[in-house]
Amino acid sequence: MSAVKHLPPDLLPDSHLLKPEHHEFRARLRRYLAEHVEPVWAEYEAHERFPRDILKDMAKEGFLGIPFPKEYGGMGLDSLSLAMAIEEFSRAWGSLGIIMAAHIGLGSSPIWNWGNEEQKRKYLVPLARGERMGGYGLTEPQAGSDSGATKTNARFDGTHWILNGAKAWCTNATEAFSYVVSAVTDGDKGKGSGISAFIVEKDFPGFSFGKKEDKMGLRASATGVLLFDNCKVPAENLLGEEGQGFKYFMKTLDGGRITIGAMALGLGYAALEEAVKAVVGENYTKDLWAHEYKLAPLAEIATELAAARQMIYNAAITKDLQPRWTQDGAMAKWFASEVAMRATDRLVTYMAERGLEMNSKFSSAFRDAKLCTIGEGTNEICRVVIARELLKGYQPA
Ligand SMILES: Cc1cc2nc3c(=O)[nH]c(=O)nc-3n(C[C@H](O)[C@H](O)[C@H](O)COP(=O)(O)OP(=O)(O)OC[C@H]3O[C@@H](n4cnc5c(N)ncnc54)[C@H](O)[C@@H]3O)c2cc1C
Repeated sequence: MSAVKHLPPDLLPDSHLLKPEHHEFRARLRRYLAEHVEPVWAEYEAHERFPRDILKDMAKEGFLGIPFPKEYGGMGLDSLSLAMAIEEFSRAWGSLGIIMAAHIGLGSSPIWNWGNEEQKRKYLVPLARGERMGGYGLTEPQAGSDSGATKTNARFDGTHWILNGAKAWCTNATEAFSYVVSAVTDGDKGKGSGISAFIVEKDFPGFSFGKKEDKMGLRASATGVLLFDNCKVPAENLLGEEGQGFKYFMKTLDGGRITIGAMALGLGYAALEEAVKAVVGENYTKDLWAHEYKLAPLAEIATELAAARQMIYNAAITKDLQPRWTQDGAMAKWFASEVAMRATDRLVTYMAERGLEMNSKFSSAFRDAKLCTIGEGTNEICRVVIARELLKGYQPA
């Protein structure tokens, strides 16, 4: 039985994309986060403490396997529920949002999408149950936006794939048990071709961790380097078909963009909610017209966040209904992250000294939201993706 009795009302207009079960799920998430995360997040963030104990507790609720079928340890919910959950986790705490987005969307989803039955039983079930954490290694020191330029390579020695190279900026590095990693298996093929996907366990011989990144935000989430020095990966850990990895990684990012958009939305919402509470505390609401200068920015920010929410929820629904949703995800992520940056920037100024306080909801959301313009394809890359989709079908004869 939850100790939290009254949840604050939602600040944004009701979305008719939500069914009653989505409203119930949001209420359940909010109640849980209000009780277990909101009272403690700032302490973890200030000390850069990875929330192992919180994640263990969240696993009991099923939250680490939201979109995966129940028979594989998940909750069996839809992509809209996942987007809403990442929004709520991020609203409570940005670091929790990115940890969960990486664990579910990047470290586990590819195994669900392209793994064989044995891989799903061995890796997906403990990930979905939250017994283990997952990570995703695509980015390399010299291959970020241009991930087709991957240098990490894998050669088959008859029983094992031998991996050499490095992955940079991996979320959940050191904390995850398994990582879905890209490596070139056929260097003779062109850029982007000849890349395969592998499931790599942290204890495989030749695997180690490099430096931990010292980030301006999301400080309790671990981000680091994965190193492969003749790392021995069993033949059966090739994920999907050899040479198809690039396609899998790009498709994974299409979905990841919806969750990163949801993260941005949650961060913007958190800062707005805190500002609304402050304004109510100052009694400005008594005479709205006299304090128009104080209230108009909140109205503008709420309107932009409401538009971002519709785009994200719509992209999540489209992902479950249609084969093509690349453009929906890229648009939602680009728009929501720009809105979140604008909102948090304005709200830090709006709250002045309180806004600048380290680990206030304002300053932390401002720092954390910046990631959303970079991760899962920077916003420049999202625009390239959107433009490419716009032009499809209109090629000259
Ligand atoms: C907190 C955090 C967590 C992350 N987690 C993960 C993870 O779990 N796994 C993972 O694999 N990666 C992860 N990343 C890496 C992230 O995906 C990359 O940082 C991102 O793809 C950009 O790559 P880059 O940093 O190498 O920048 P670059 O690719 O070097 O880009 C530098 C700048 O050039 C611009 N640019 C590049 N190419 C173009 C172009 N064609 N047109 C226009 N502009 C262009 C970019 O937009 C950017 O502004 C994470 C990053 C951060 C910050």
